[in-house]
Amino acid sequence: MKILVSVKRVLDYNVKVRVSPDGRGVDLVNVKMSMNPFDEIAVEEAVRLKEAGIATDVIAVSCGTSKCQETLRTALAIGADRAILVESDVELQPLAVAKLLKALVEKEQPQIVFCGKQAIDDDANQTGQMLAALMGWPQATFASKVFVKDNTATVTREVDGGLETLELRLPAVITTDLRLNEPRYVTLPNIMKAKKKPLETIAPETLGVDVTPRLETLAVAEPSKRTAGIRVADVKQLIDKLKNEAKVI
Ligand code: AMP
Repeated sequence: MKILVSVKRVLDYNVKVRVSPDGRGVDLVNVKMSMNPFDEIAVEEAVRLKEAGIATDVIAVSCGTSKCQETLRTALAIGADRAILVESDVELQPLAVAKLLKALVEKEQPQIVFCGKQAIDDDANQTGQMLAALMGWPQATFASKVFVKDNTATVTREVDGGLETLELRLPAVITTDLRLNEPRYVTLPNIMKAKKKPLETIAPETLGVDVTPRLETLAVAEPSKRTAGIRVADVKQLIDKLKNEAKVI
């Protein structure tokens, strides 16, 4: 069974985000970039299925600039077998990525596509869903547990107020949530091994996909600053302030 995993290069989750000088995006000059955390979980899950003897081939895919090669090398170091970079300097929006993934799915014929539940840069939470719709495949989003047997995946999903379990007929798209697994630490020997694994680069045009952006970002603004809190001497003073200053009780 082949598994395809999408991995996006995004601003590292530890970086403090700043609005770019033109006020239309996020400042990416000289900031640390990493694999989207939900995609790390997706790669880990695929590699665990391979280690369990269920999957045979794990293919990592990234769409973006040549710098995404770094992200793909990380996926290979976690344990993916090979990688594909769809190289483009154009800003790739979720629909364009979903179409590129669809073209690769038709070429590679995986039984499962793992995507992250959302990219922490655009927070769109759309790509996996769009891919499933374009393919006409079943989907399970926000997965916190995946069990694969024969032609079926049983997926526990994190939903508002609890958990939901779905049984999907493969092929299917599964998007990963935080509690699905804890990605392994990437070791130096595995980083070295990853350098020798195959990484293919292709252009969106060869996949017949028009990646022109459909949406224009008009403005990006920082959230308003929170004012500092104050310390109260006792419960009496707290109640007095809640009643007379905040007027919430
Ligand atoms: P989004 O819909 O942008 O929140 O992204 C959801 C998931 O789709 C991400 O966690 C990735 O797995 C995948 N994805 C989105 N954009 C890309 C990209 N440029 N390259 C590879 N995977 C992507």
